Amino acid sequence: MRQTLTINAGQQKYTVTTESGFFKRMGETLAKSYGGRKIALITDDNVMKLYEEELRNQMDKAGIEWTLISLAPGEDSKSLDVIPKLYSRLLDFQLTREDIILALGGGVVGDISGFTAATFLRGVNLINIPTTLMAMVDASIGGKNGANLPEGRNMAGTFYQPLEVFIDPLFVRTLPDKVFDDGMAEVIKYGCAFDPDLFADLADKASKNDGSGIESIIYRCCLIKKQIIELDSRDYGIAMLLNFGHTFGHCIENYFPEEGFTHGEAVAIGMYTNAMAGEKAGLTAPGTGQAIKHLLMGYDLPFELPEDADIRKISEAVKHDKKRRGNNLNIVLLEKIGKAFLYQMDKSQYADFIDYKNL
Ligand code: NAD
Ligand code: ZN
Repeated sequence: MRQTLTINAGQQKYTVTTESGFFKRMGETLAKSYGGRKIALITDDNVMKLYEEELRNQMDKAGIEWTLISLAPGEDSKSLDVIPKLYSRLLDFQLTREDIILALGGGVVGDISGFTAATFLRGVNLINIPTTLMAMVDASIGGKNGANLPEGRNMAGTFYQPLEVFIDPLFVRTLPDKVFDDGMAEVIKYGCAFDPDLFADLADKASKNDGSGIESIIYRCCLIKKQIIELDSRDYGIAMLLNFGHTFGHCIENYFPEEGFTHGEAVAIGMYTNAMAGEKAGLTAPGTGQAIKHLLMGYDLPFELPEDADIRKISEAVKHDKKRRGNNLNIVLLEKIGKAFLYQMDKSQYADFIDYKNL
């Protein structure tokens, strides 16, 4: 089924179309809407291995003038060193501001392509075609992009809205189970923070091969994200709630080397730890942490750090938190499953708060 959402992001409006099988019509769809414009398609080598033949078929048959730029898979490609190489390729291809950068891939491809689109020639058009669950439900909409700095992940980046987003849920079929489960962490986040019915539905394990089931889950998450970012497109107020589990999650990502925890795993641990800390502080309904733990385990996601990890030390990375205002931290707590709220504390109180095991 084809479902379209329109996102009103300040001055800009764009559509997010979710349709299983879209990829097989990608060429004609792009030619119809954007005929005559050049397309620089950025992807990664894993996506290429699986989809190159159909991609070439789609683009060439539709008579699109395009070039293919494939990055090495993984977080390393979200480095600032990659940007000048991308600029060179775009210059060789003589891409102009009328033309399009198309990001076909997961969150890494989406983030680095978005950053490149926002800055090349002071901004060229961007289209997102996410191929991971994480990118479908989160990274491809909202207009945030990012690159990693040696001091911390996603420390550089802009807000830059795409022209359009096309989601083909069938892409998730080829995801390794671990990558699919990783995206489920972000799906579970939506349930925890906004939608108790979604949270309950996720107890019946969602499968990447269950066509209409996963399509509907993706659509529900996109709808929640739309509703939230339309109220607050630059993350100053209610949109911070989308960061449930992310404050501690980002600490984990920053403390451990990149191969330590994926974004989804870090967020999974962040959600459980946050709920337990909230319960201990009397701010979160008892049993919330257990319910989250149970759901995370169903998707083979971690819920806590290894025994020997030093939570207090890890939590020091909160000084890099992008939601910090001076010494004030805005953290997202759950009142109960499906209802998140913002809670302010001084950053010096964070270690005591999050170290919930320490009595
Ligand atoms: P990813 O892009 O690294 O993709 C994960 C793996 O799946 C990669 O190895 C990739 O090659 C492979 N892959 C992609 N599509 C595939 C497919 N259809 N079939 C088989 N393999 C496929 O990571 P991700 O999990 O998609 O995203 C994580 C990144 O996204 C992080 O860098 C995170 O910071 C970022 N992110 C950004 C936002 C945002 O709002 N900008 C939101 C959430 C996450
Ligand atoms: Zn996230």
